[in-house]
Amino acid sequence: MFYRAHLLISASPEGLEWIADGLMQVDSEGRIGLIGAYDEIAPHCEGRPVQDLRPLWILPGMVDLHVHLPQHEAVAMDGLELLPWLETFIYPAEARFADSEVARRAAARFFDGLLSRGTTTAVVYATVHEAATDAAFREAERSGIRAVIGKVMMDRHGPEALQEDTAASIAESEGLCQTWHGRDHGRLLYAFTPRFAPTCSAELMRAVGNLGAKYGAYIQTHLSENLQELEWVKELFPEASSYTDVYRRMGMLGPRTLLAHGIHLDSTERTLLRETGSALVHCPRSNAFLRSGIMPLRRWLEDGLTVGLGTDVGAGPSLSLWAEAAFACTASKLLWAGNQNLVDHLKRSGAYSELQQTEFSAALTQDAPVDPVQAFHLATLGGARALGLDDRIGTLATGKEADFVVVDPGLVDPAEYRAPEAPERTLSRMLYREHPGMVRATYIRGRQCFAAQG
Ligand SMILES: [Zn+2]
Repeated sequence: MFYRAHLLISASPEGLEWIADGLMQVDSEGRIGLIGAYDEIAPHCEGRPVQDLRPLWILPGMVDLHVHLPQHEAVAMDGLELLPWLETFIYPAEARFADSEVARRAAARFFDGLLSRGTTTAVVYATVHEAATDAAFREAERSGIRAVIGKVMMDRHGPEALQEDTAASIAESEGLCQTWHGRDHGRLLYAFTPRFAPTCSAELMRAVGNLGAKYGAYIQTHLSENLQELEWVKELFPEASSYTDVYRRMGMLGPRTLLAHGIHLDSTERTLLRETGSALVHCPRSNAFLRSGIMPLRRWLEDGLTVGLGTDVGAGPSLSLWAEAAFACTASKLLWAGNQNLVDHLKRSGAYSELQQTEFSAALTQDAPVDPVQAFHLATLGGARALGLDDRIGTLATGKEADFVVVDPGLVDPAEYRAPEAPERTLSRMLYREHPGMVRATYIRGRQCFAAQG
């Protein structure tokens, strides 16, 4: 099949690669074949079907690196910080997944929701329940989405309903990994998923480090989100030099490790992450919602850290990575503006020392806002890199698997349809002004997994 549309080939920190009126071939294996300007490619497709989608756009599918399936039904419960929020809203929601029929129905809605927003790859936390995790995999398999899923592990400091026996937690996780990791030629993958250091024993986390290496599977957990949490980790692991060092000691860091948040990291921790190739997942809407803070995105990127984006539903309010990417820009602007305001305040109060001047002018440069192209890069190729899957997904390129979305740019434009000569502006509108109907179709490996009605 050939698709004729405006093609957003890739987004990188250097800018967009873009073809107005392009043609993309998807072969019977679900890979991208020929791709280029319509006039150049058209002679190669004589007699073969061409679907003309203009004025719609085709973009690479989005990669959500951090989202909690069971929390989808407990989103947007405002008013608390991380630890009381977990106790009050989240643990009770997760406990309901002991009923695997509840879990199955929720999983079906969840994956449909992701696909309808243009997410083609999702890295997912299930609950502690083995059957519910298995149901999540089965629904992901059915829906066609590309997914990395893990059974949550927690063997201490959890509510009774979710508390696990250490050996059982490890055995069940390993069994699920054996069943699902690599299924459908690698479309479904496993992530060992200790919730976060405070709810996991050292024995459990060491086992996770070993199992991740044994199976070449992912490891996902949370890192350095909330200040109260940081204090708790210090109390629980006095021998560790930092929160990141806890995971290092357990053998959990490495190129297949995804750590959500990473807001309050010192330079030693960042070095550890960089040297081990561990990736951070930036979830700015969740961080604002739970008043956790603003991750200095630009600074962490300049520091050489691998970073992608996650919606972190249910602390994040929706499954939309468009909105998450827009908020990543907003959060970076708020961080910069906050510093600017503080400088102004200090200047007015006459208390602006030379040392502060040096520190703040450095901070204002280091924390310069990111733009929509950079944010969209994180939501696509950046996420693919964090997973080590950038040879397969993240951009539209010959030989890659055809994970893409068809988007109607007219729905985000308050004026009439414009000629697509300024794709950066249209992309900016897609992020900041995401319209619920703008994703017209979502394809994974060339298979249509979602189509909008009407
Ligand atoms: Zn999370």
